[in-house]
Amino acid sequence: MAPPSPHALVIPYPAQGHVIPLLELAHALVDRGFTVTFANSEFNHRRVVAAAMPESESPTLLGRRGIRLVAVPDGMGPGEDRNDIVRLTLLTAEHMAPRVEDLIRRSRDGDGGAEGGPITCVVADYNVGAWALDVARRTGVRSAAIWPASAAVLASLLSIDKLIQDKIIDPQDGSALSQGTFQLSPDMPVMQTSHLAWNCIGNHDGQEALFRYLRAGVRAVEECDFILCNSFHDAEPATFARFPRIVPVGPLLTGERRRRGSGGKQAAAVVGHFWRPEDGACMAWLNAQAARSVVYVAFGSHTMFDARQFRELALGLELSGRPFLWVVRPDIVLGGGGIHGYPDGFLDRVSATGRGMVVAWSPQQRVLAHPAVACFVSHCGWNSTMEGVRNGVPFLAWPYFTDQFVNQAYICDVWKVGLPAEADESGVVTKEHIASRVEELMGDAGMRERVEDMKRAARGSVTRGGSSHRNFDMFVQAMKRRESIDSQNN
Ligand code: UDP
Repeated sequence: MAPPSPHALVIPYPAQGHVIPLLELAHALVDRGFTVTFANSEFNHRRVVAAAMPESESPTLLGRRGIRLVAVPDGMGPGEDRNDIVRLTLLTAEHMAPRVEDLIRRSRDGDGGAEGGPITCVVADYNVGAWALDVARRTGVRSAAIWPASAAVLASLLSIDKLIQDKIIDPQDGSALSQGTFQLSPDMPVMQTSHLAWNCIGNHDGQEALFRYLRAGVRAVEECDFILCNSFHDAEPATFARFPRIVPVGPLLTGERRRRGSGGKQAAAVVGHFWRPEDGACMAWLNAQAARSVVYVAFGSHTMFDARQFRELALGLELSGRPFLWVVRPDIVLGGGGIHGYPDGFLDRVSATGRGMVVAWSPQQRVLAHPAVACFVSHCGWNSTMEGVRNGVPFLAWPYFTDQFVNQAYICDVWKVGLPAEADESGVVTKEHIASRVEELMGDAGMRERVEDMKRAARGSVTRGGSSHRNFDMFVQAMKRRESIDSQNN
């Protein structure tokens, strides 16, 4: 009997910054001959389908040939707050695990045979690893974890036991003990204990629950066949030297996939947006701007501003005198209930002068690749960081949460491809500061040279012969092998 053709079950953590890179990984697996079943939570599946579907097409035309998009309930009710990370994480583990196991077993019974045959491996987001990798083990398929953020932050998770041993964090709830910072090796970034994910939750029960969940995840991940990371060797050489099990395969080329649409025309392939990007408006506006003139401003999918900071940012962009493209999600202002509270007359001035454009969601990858873009005011989410680097765009680095602070340290102190946004004594990043930092970034020739070097290194790593490309080949070959690791070892 012919061996089953390789069929990967790819499972993202249910958040925007996870679904986008994992879907890109799914496309990359299809490029190498895999069939992929992509298991989104039902809630996100609906958003991805709605955002990707051109008015004229039916959902069945959506997926690329070779990728089957499936929906699995996450256990939350329709109106529940999915920004409650702890509840979402725990409910997902409880509700998705049995259904995913069932999906794998049914694929062997011929159910799904028409769509790829039996599932032969699981590629799970590290953040669902605690349950998804157990499911893989129970069902006897190969498995890999993928971490869609920096290797340094992954290394801090894999070092939880050591941090406990060294009395840096508490064994019960992971809170800081004596010192506020730690360094896993001399060349790695210094990290703050208060920025570890569980220490940012804001309530003790939630903190303890997330700490326990992530600690359990370490054991599951250590037993899987591969630990992949959306980073590249030259970005974090010290971390890859100290933690050789972490295999860099990035930066994953998210957001640029094309496919044949109706009538043979090229159309955007599904890349996992939760909101429909204002593609035409952004690109037409950018096309009308001078080369390297535009300030692109986007804070990812979660970050929220208080009303005062939001207004100050608007005024700072005006004060800079530069053209700007600003992503303002409907929910970006804390307690705003969808009302943004722009400064008086701001939107009228913006539209009258044509000097700025405000959108609810952009095709960020395409924006950053546009020659008109000069700098990126960013919250330093890892995807945004990699996307800026891969396109050679310097940063005004403005982190809010957990790993974004380590990413800021990489951008500003290690790679030196950006400047930090600094708050004044009242906690606000002022309009004057924003405008002057933008000016500094625009005029810094050394910064431009360094970011071009990073761009070359990032792109080199994912082209044939580059380190991430070779690593991905090795991973693909291992996942395609038919026998399980256990039977090899016996
Ligand atoms: N993104 C986008 N359009 C926007 C803002 C963000 O396509 O207007 C994408 C961005 O390209 C990235 C992801 O959303 O791939 C955000 O991930 P990141 O890790 O930067 O931030 P998070 O949302 O996880 O905080």
